[in-house]
Amino acid sequence: MGKPVLLTVDDDPSVSRAVARDLRRRYGEDYRVMRADSGPQALDALKEIKLRGDRVAAILADYRMPQMNGIEFLEAAMDLFPRARRALLTAYADTDAAIQAINVVDVDHYLLKPWDPPEEKLYPVVDALIATWQAAGDSPVEEIKVVGHQFSPASFELRDFLARNQVPYRWYLADSSEGRRLLESADADPQAPDVIPLVVTPEGEVLRNPSPNELATRVGLATNPTEKFYDVIIVGGGPAGLGAAVYAASEGLRTVLVEQQATGGQAGQSSRIENYLGFPDGVSGAQLTDRARRQAIKFGAEILTTRKACELIVKGSARGVKFEDGTEIAAHAVVLATGVSYRRLQASGIDDLTGRGVYYGSAAVEAPACAGQEVVIVGGANSAGQAAVFFSRHASKVRLVVRGANLEASMSAYLIKQLAEIENVQVQTRTTVCACLGEGRLQRIDLKNEDTGEIEPVDAGFCFVFIGAAPLTDWMDGVLVRDEAGFVLAGTDLLGEDGARPKGWNADRDPFPLETSVPGVFVAGDVRSQSVKRVASAVGEGAMAVTLVHRYLSS
Ligand SMILES: Cc1cc2nc3c(=O)[nH]c(=O)nc-3n(C[C@H](O)[C@H](O)[C@H](O)COP(=O)(O)OP(=O)(O)OC[C@H]3O[C@@H](n4cnc5c(N)ncnc54)[C@H](O)[C@@H]3O)c2cc1C
Repeated sequence: MGKPVLLTVDDDPSVSRAVARDLRRRYGEDYRVMRADSGPQALDALKEIKLRGDRVAAILADYRMPQMNGIEFLEAAMDLFPRARRALLTAYADTDAAIQAINVVDVDHYLLKPWDPPEEKLYPVVDALIATWQAAGDSPVEEIKVVGHQFSPASFELRDFLARNQVPYRWYLADSSEGRRLLESADADPQAPDVIPLVVTPEGEVLRNPSPNELATRVGLATNPTEKFYDVIIVGGGPAGLGAAVYAASEGLRTVLVEQQATGGQAGQSSRIENYLGFPDGVSGAQLTDRARRQAIKFGAEILTTRKACELIVKGSARGVKFEDGTEIAAHAVVLATGVSYRRLQASGIDDLTGRGVYYGSAAVEAPACAGQEVVIVGGANSAGQAAVFFSRHASKVRLVVRGANLEASMSAYLIKQLAEIENVQVQTRTTVCACLGEGRLQRIDLKNEDTGEIEPVDAGFCFVFIGAAPLTDWMDGVLVRDEAGFVLAGTDLLGEDGARPKGWNADRDPFPLETSVPGVFVAGDVRSQSVKRVASAVGEGAMAVTLVHRYLSS
C-alpha cells in the first residue's frame, strides 16, 4: 500500500500549485500530495486511488469552481472515500455561502484564502484533519449486518443503539431478498420468538435479539471497569458527563464514566445544535459527541456503555455506585450527570404504537423511512423545532403540534424564523394529540383543537414526541436531597433559611456549589435543580464539578 494521499483541488492552477507546494513541504515525507485543477479531474484521481487500494487522508477543495463547485465535488468524493477528512477553501466574500453549504457535506474546516503564513493558517488545520483521520482509522469499514422489521420496537431500539454509539451497520428488512438470505444462512426462523432483530458481526458471528450489553461487548464498546477504585466516577455520558470526563482525565484524575445507553445524552439526538459556542455553522449532536468522547478517551478517561447506575453507595470516605448486575465501583468522589428523559405522552393507543411509528426523541434512523410521508412532531421547545427542520428534508409534510398558544414562549427566535421559511412545515398551536391509531404500526393520529374541541384525523405514519423532561432520580432516593420534581439540590439551595446545613451533612463547612447533600457527591447539568437546560451550561457545570472535586479532595 502506498503513502496515504492529501488531495487539493482548485481551478486556479497557481493556487493549486501553491497549496500543493506548502503541503509537500510539511507532509511530503509521510503523505503523497496530489493536486487537480477541477472537480471532475479530482474525482478521476480519486477513482484511480481507489482502484490501487490506497487511502486518502484529507481533501482540500476550493469552493468556487466552474463545472462543479467545492460542495458538489466533496459530496461526490465522500461516496468514494467517506473517511477522508474534508476542508473547503473559500474567499472572504464566499464565507456565508460556504457556511450554509457546509452543513451538506459535513466539512471539518473551512480555510480562508490566502492562508499565509501556512504555519499559522494552513498547517494547524491540516494537522487537525490528519489527527482526526488517524484517530478514526481508515481500515475498510467492518460491517455489522442487522436484519429486522421496519415497525418493531426491538429492531428500532437496536438500530438506535448502534447509531447513537456511532457503530456503522447495514440494515436489511427481514422480508427483503438479502434479509431472507441472511436469515437462511444463519439458520434463523424469523417467525420464532427472540430471533429478530438478528445481528451478524464482521466475523460472521450471529446474535439473535441481543441485549444492549451483549451487543455492546461484541461491537467493541467497553462495558466493564478495569479498576475497582477511581478518583472520580461520572454517572451519565451527556454533555455534562463528557465535559466532566474531559476535564477530570486531563487534570490527571483516574476517571471512569458510566453511561446506561449511549454517550451524547439528549444532545446526541440533536440534528443540529446552532447555539453552542465555537460552532458558527452549527454542529450535529452526533459529531459533538464523537469529538467529546474521543477527547475524553485521549486524556485517559474510561468510558463504559450499557451500564446503569442503580444505587449510590456512601461508605466512610468512599463513594460509589452499584450496577444492575449487583457489581460495584468505588471512588473518592462521584459526579452525577444523569440529565433528563422525555415525559410520556398521554394519548389513547400510544403505548402500543411506541417503536412502531411513535418515537420519543428524534429517532434519526427513521428519517429515510419518512420519505414522502406526513410526519407529526409534538412539542414546542427547541428540540421539537430542530426535529421539524430535520424531518422537513425527508417527509412530504411536517406538522408541529404545540399545546401552547405560540412558539415564542418556548423556542429560540432563530428556530422560529427557520421554521417559518420552510414550506412543508405547518405549526399547529393550541393542539394536542388525543389518539394514535393503527394496526401493528401507526397509521392515524387524532389531533384536538383545544379552543374548539374539534378533532382532526391526520393520516401520518410517524410521530416524534418532544414533551417536557423528567429526571429519573428515584434510585438516589433516601441518599440525596431532591426537589419535588426529583431534580437534585446542590450548594446553597441545600441550606435552610437560617443557613442550616442539610440533614446528615457531616463536613465542617457548607456544601460547595454543585455539591449535593452528601459531601464528595456532585451534580452537573440538566439533573440539577434549577439548572439551565442547555448544552453549554451542562458542559460548563461538568468542568466546574471537576474543579470542586479537586477542592473536596484537598479539604
Ligand atoms: C433533540 C434535542 C435538541 C437539543 N438542542 C439543543 C440546542 O440546540 N442547544 C442547547 O443548548 N441545548 C439543546 N438541547 C438541550 C441539551 O441537549 C441538554 O440541555 C443537555 O444534553 C443536557 O446535558 P446533560 O449531560 O446534563 O444531560 P443528558 O444530555 O440528558 O445526558 C444524561 C445522560 O445520562 C445517562 N443516564 C441517566 N441515568 C443514568 C444512570 N442511572 N446510569 C448511567 N447513565 C445514566 C443518560 O442515558 C444520558 O446519556 C437539546 C435537547 C434535545 C433532546
